[in-house]
Amino acid sequence: MTKKIRFALLAIALMNIGLFVALYAALAADAQWGYDGDQGPAYWGALSPEFSLCDDGSAQSPIDIDEASAVNLVELEFNYRQTVNNIVNNGHTIQVDIAAGSHIVYNGIRYDLLQFHFHSPSEHTIGGEAAPMEIHFVHRDPNSGALAVVGVMLTESEADNEAYAPVFEAMPAAAGEAQALPAPLALDALLPQTRAYYTYNGSLTTPPCSEIARWLLLDSPVELSAGQIAAFKSIYDGNARPVQPLGKRDLLRKRR
Ligand SMILES: [Zn+2]
Repeated sequence: MTKKIRFALLAIALMNIGLFVALYAALAADAQWGYDGDQGPAYWGALSPEFSLCDDGSAQSPIDIDEASAVNLVELEFNYRQTVNNIVNNGHTIQVDIAAGSHIVYNGIRYDLLQFHFHSPSEHTIGGEAAPMEIHFVHRDPNSGALAVVGVMLTESEADNEAYAPVFEAMPAAAGEAQALPAPLALDALLPQTRAYYTYNGSLTTPPCSEIARWLLLDSPVELSAGQIAAFKSIYDGNARPVQPLGKRDLLRKRR
């Protein structure tokens, strides 16, 4: 075999490996998952090798919040701006993608707000009880890639929550649909006034279940009307992963 032919064969072999890797990545990325039947949370780990942490992880989310002794923890600092944002139905939830500029500071680290989205019922439970809904504000440290996810329980009351009205009125019903929200959203008004929190190290609550999230669960809920909750449930009802074992992790509660 001449050097030239050997080189050509090697190049073809490498191309095939490259093709295989690309195909494999595309298939893995395309693995369908959901919340029901054989695509449901109990099967996520088996749906794709990339989802293996969903089965094998040791720091998974969500969890049940039960007794956590209150300790002195840093203040959670919110710097949320009023921005124009896009709302999308991504096939698993309704998500609002946030324009750059909003962030939190936790333990001296700045995490940029990327998006928020909803689950119904809540994913985290408190003393075994789920709330009607939970909102997740997903932030990322641009330097390390680590996530800080702020969770807020959404409970039911009489009146419409005006701060949430622009979101609930614009939710796209069909998967894949997206649109710009008609007006700037006052992000800070989506949060409760009191911002004490529970915290633990956990994961994405959806595949690939990566264990890269510092969870910050505010201990005060936000109230929505029954009509607002029904509006979300008419699109997604049951997009919550069951609670996972806390294991050896610390669950801390900030003293008010
Ligand atoms: Zn979520």
